[in-house]
Amino acid sequence: MFFPSKFPTLATTIFSKMSAMAAEYGAVNLSQGFPDFRPPEELLSCIQRHINTHSHQYAPMPGLPALRQAIAEMHRRTHDTLIDPDTEITITAGATQALFALIATVVYPGDEVVVLAPSYDSYAPAVELMGGRIVEIPLNPDFSLPTFEIAKVISPKTRLLIVNNPHNPTGKVLTPVEMHFLENIANENPHLIFLFDEVYQHIVFDGFQHLTALSYPELRKRAACVYSFGKSLNATGWKIGYIVANEHLTREIRKIHQYEVFAVNSFMQAALAEYLPDFDPFALVAQLQAARDYLLAQLADTRFKPIPSQGSYFQLYDYSEISELDDIHFTEWLVKEVGVALIPISVFYKNPPKNQRLVRFCFAKRNETLQLAAQRLKNL
Ligand code: PMP
Ligand code: GLN
Repeated sequence: MFFPSKFPTLATTIFSKMSAMAAEYGAVNLSQGFPDFRPPEELLSCIQRHINTHSHQYAPMPGLPALRQAIAEMHRRTHDTLIDPDTEITITAGATQALFALIATVVYPGDEVVVLAPSYDSYAPAVELMGGRIVEIPLNPDFSLPTFEIAKVISPKTRLLIVNNPHNPTGKVLTPVEMHFLENIANENPHLIFLFDEVYQHIVFDGFQHLTALSYPELRKRAACVYSFGKSLNATGWKIGYIVANEHLTREIRKIHQYEVFAVNSFMQAALAEYLPDFDPFALVAQLQAARDYLLAQLADTRFKPIPSQGSYFQLYDYSEISELDDIHFTEWLVKEVGVALIPISVFYKNPPKNQRLVRFCFAKRNETLQLAAQRLKNL
């Protein structure tokens, strides 16, 4: 190479890899997290109208004021939180760019950033690109917060703690006690910034509640929270999200955002602004909870053992009664020989636990899709 790679050992993401393998082998793709339901029909008609009437020129850098207003109104309605749309919301190119902008804003070379593993795959590369050091703490075996270990590892060198709730890939939802613990950590460590990845904010099952960091005053002071319309509107391909943070943090985030993308797709913002007052999170949850339950029922008599999922698009299964292969080899074998694409969990760790045999299913699919996958898996 005529220049040194910044990431000599980094591979293409597991999501690209498994979706490509699913296409190559004609497998049912329950790997990458995307629904095969359509986005709401009213939203699609609204977009059609805006395609015809919009100016199609640049949106304002932080996002269309009407969309930021509609987002603030949605958070008031769904989570009873108040957000200033002018000074605290920035529209981003999906949650991924929001995460990147926040990390680029706050992480300096030598800073430590604490992540709780398994953790979503885009955090660590962004931190490392900024010269930060990832400090990985495994979640407890039941995927609850390892409170003792978190409290122990936070030091003056820790710049950022990243929390994902509801959690990808485990489907775990934080409890009031866990949120209270995080608030105490904020109190005790005034230098610490929090990044809450709340892209699955609406997708919580069985009467569990999503507790947003925005409703905890001590966290609110130093947290940035990241969201994705891809997840709430069954439209992961649109890549529109947003980041909420206090005025000072938002001002700094926008300095990075303006030179990363400047602004996000304008007519989609206009359409979303018009549609959001009609957005019904209960319909979304009902659809996804039914899909999760359908998958659970389809696989009930198999040797795949489910780990309870309380939210997100994802359901973990333990396959240790089926195979001794590690999860990478097991998922490669499944996609090629059985015709179902899943995600191995070890890719979400820097140090994967030995002998953990878990795979992630994306259940945000129509019953026909889940049934076809289950038919292929039933005899294992
Ligand atoms: N965070 C988590 C936890 C995710 O699962 C995803 C994937 N959708 C993202 C962030 C990225 O979201 P987006 O597609 O809007 O960039
Ligand atoms: N968030 C999605 C998942 O966890 C994938 C996003 C992507 O492909 N980068 O499957």
